[in-house]
Amino acid sequence: MLTAVATGVDEPLTLTEREVPEPGQGEVLVKITACGICYTDLDLLQGEWPIARFPVVPGHEITGVVAATGPGVSWPEVGVSVGAQFLGDSCRHCDYCVRGEQILCPQKRITGIVMDGGYAEYAVLKADFVTPLPAGLDPVAAAPLMCAGLTAFNSLRQAGATATSRVAVIGAGGVGALAVRYAVAMGARVAVIGRSRRGEAAAREMGAEQFIATQDADPAEALRAWDGGANVILNASPSTSAAAATLTGLAPDGTLVLCGYGPEPLTLPTQPMVLNRLHAMINPSGSPHDARDTLAFSAAHGILPESTPIGLRDANGVLDAMAKGQSGKRSVITFG
Ligand SMILES: [Zn+2]
Ligand SMILES: [Zn+2]
Repeated sequence: MLTAVATGVDEPLTLTEREVPEPGQGEVLVKITACGICYTDLDLLQGEWPIARFPVVPGHEITGVVAATGPGVSWPEVGVSVGAQFLGDSCRHCDYCVRGEQILCPQKRITGIVMDGGYAEYAVLKADFVTPLPAGLDPVAAAPLMCAGLTAFNSLRQAGATATSRVAVIGAGGVGALAVRYAVAMGARVAVIGRSRRGEAAAREMGAEQFIATQDADPAEALRAWDGGANVILNASPSTSAAAATLTGLAPDGTLVLCGYGPEPLTLPTQPMVLNRLHAMINPSGSPHDARDTLAFSAAHGILPESTPIGLRDANGVLDAMAKGQSGKRSVITFG
């Protein structure tokens, strides 16, 4: 099978032919249909994952079809369409695992970082950690839902967004656009924060009732003027400081959740935080039940990300462009 392997930090992916692996106990062999290219894959190659086990096959936005099952697997059967995500395995017996919060397991293992992922024609995955694809969901369009979608959906959920919330989203491309559409579909009122007014028409089309351009207005002040502030602010921009600058735009008990952040530390003013019981969090992807809910919600509301299909041989070029900050639509590797 054609495979792209990350051999070490600052090394391009090596394209190579490998034997199709055999699934072991509790594992399934998945013939991959599509695998999205996530910023985490770039981080891996740039050395920002000290837990990485090189050589490793990157990729954790996987959709495909079960081609074989290992011993002890009663589900999924051969022929079932599944997705696979960032969380690839966990211990199954710690307090978090037994509560269905496997993403918090201290022994969790990450697909495409310490276990081989989806930059290959086949992958061996843990049967308990794949997600059934809802009928009618296009497997190529759905691939980015397994990380970008899951992270956006679950960040809103973990930050407490409900139908009565005011949700502000900083940066409405990619993950941010998904967050806006999820929040609107949940019934929340939505504001989009951008640098200029360039994204306003698109934001309003997605259902945002407010658009705040940071070149014209202080975003925290503008949010406070929005019926007392946002209950949730979701940062989908790559800037930690842009997120921090909006903190005082939160309503009391509000939560700032960072889907995007840079390498700099998150610096927040403590006085408004203590006076208003404000929260700040970063949500890592999600547990298996979160992935199921993301796919079900996305299918029910017709929320699919825009993406560009590419071949596996184009992956290095896409990662180079991402490293240079040339962000376009999400690239999805497809296997014909
Ligand atoms: Zn555990
Ligand atoms: Zn990811």
